[in-house]
Amino acid sequence: MEDYREKSFWLSQMDLEWEAELEGTVNCDVAIIGGGYTGISTAHFLKKMDPSMDVVVLERDLVGYGASGRNAGFSMKLFGFSMAMTKMRFGADNAMQAHHYMTEAVHLVQEMVDEYDIDCDYEHTGFFRLATSEAYERRIKKEIEFARSMGVDDIEWKSADEVAEEVRSPNFRGGAWEPDSAILNPAKLIRGMKEVVEEQGVTIYEGTPVEEIDKGDRVRLTTPKGEVLADRVVLATNAYTHLMPVLRTKQAPAFTHIILTEPLGEEHFEKIGWKRRQGLEDARNMIHYFRLTADNRLLLGGSDVKIPFGNNMDLDRDGEVFERLEEDLQFLFPQLADLKVEHRWGGPVSVTLDMAPALGEVEGGRLLYSVGCTGHGVSLTHLNGKTLAELVLEKETERTEMFFVNRWVPPWPPEPLRFAATQAVRGALRFQDRLTDA
Ligand SMILES: Cc1cc2nc3c(=O)[nH]c(=O)nc-3n(C[C@H](O)[C@H](O)[C@H](O)COP(=O)(O)OP(=O)(O)OC[C@H]3O[C@@H](n4cnc5c(N)ncnc54)[C@H](O)[C@@H]3O)c2cc1C
Repeated sequence: MEDYREKSFWLSQMDLEWEAELEGTVNCDVAIIGGGYTGISTAHFLKKMDPSMDVVVLERDLVGYGASGRNAGFSMKLFGFSMAMTKMRFGADNAMQAHHYMTEAVHLVQEMVDEYDIDCDYEHTGFFRLATSEAYERRIKKEIEFARSMGVDDIEWKSADEVAEEVRSPNFRGGAWEPDSAILNPAKLIRGMKEVVEEQGVTIYEGTPVEEIDKGDRVRLTTPKGEVLADRVVLATNAYTHLMPVLRTKQAPAFTHIILTEPLGEEHFEKIGWKRRQGLEDARNMIHYFRLTADNRLLLGGSDVKIPFGNNMDLDRDGEVFERLEEDLQFLFPQLADLKVEHRWGGPVSVTLDMAPALGEVEGGRLLYSVGCTGHGVSLTHLNGKTLAELVLEKETERTEMFFVNRWVPPWPPEPLRFAATQAVRGALRFQDRLTDA
């Protein structure tokens, strides 16, 4: 197993005890593969809805090892690539349903943090999508107009002067303001929720990769030193899901990377403002996402994504992207030229071919899955956990009726075509960015 501390700044700050590896045979009602937000949230809601359920979580490494322990910690409402694309693909009603689902998701995270008193530096700061060129200014204004025409009323344009009252850079030309979103410490959130589900009676095995899934009378999961027999299994394996033969074509992984500076001092805040600590993004296809941590470091991620070939999942560190991010930091905040970058990391996100999330059941409902949360899964995965629990318990709710539950997911082609297809999409998005950056 790898050293979890190297996987992100957030994890490097934690002193974690490992749960035991699974040994021997374990019987349970529901087995969940994957100890990220999706898996832990599903376990939480299963126990909440039916405390008699015997629920087991099997995590290959350590709870929070995946994207849940590494992300940038924006809890926000974006579903899929953009609202316009969701409308184009699924229709106007569904695009609005998705927006309501995401609103519920953001509020759910806030409620869980409050209810279980999870110490995860939660700050409901709101969020700016900033224009860094004239072309992006036009793009954002169009997006706002579109969102409002659909009935979304909690988004508005703020001029360059209005933005400068909050956060200052010569390269910010105004932006879209969304007050109902948050920033948090992602690893503290997942480790806090791990404690919650353990108190509820969920058993967690760490260091326990599921190597095989056999679908006999009961589902049998084989691990290096044991097996689990379960009535139902939830694959909460996110960007690793293509490694499971049963779901190989539903999603593909893409890697996004982050740099983190030393803590900013009062002299830095005098230059840039940012006292209200809002989450920030720009409007590129390959967005930059940036925020402050609780100890006032500046986190900057994005700029590009890297695509692995075949089963390779070893793209956590990429010197080229880290270098580009340092250059981008100079562009975004030229006033902070003296800030040192102290941490660098990356991780995989799950992408469906049509860039929209999908939940569902296969094998007559005995296997359930969630894929395609891309870089917007912090809030979404928590509500998806509730929806997956409802599906397992065969409840019919407004969530299980959502259009992206049991939808047809266009299959990714096999390699080498998958790599070629993802590289082509990446190339097109980067090309458009180069045109609009100027
Ligand atoms: C660098 C980065 C920045 C991001 N920033 C944001 C952000 O600011 N806001 C936002 O909303 N989203 C963001 N995301 C996306 C978000 O983190 C994810 O959508 C979310 O964490 C997915 O949670 P999950 O539980 O589905 O997957 P994961 O957290 O990836 O969990 C999957 C787990 O499954 C385990 N696993 C895989 N295979 C097996 C197996 N065979 N057996 C046992 N266990 C297995 C893995 O070890 C892993 O722990 C970011 C992602 C990254 C990588």
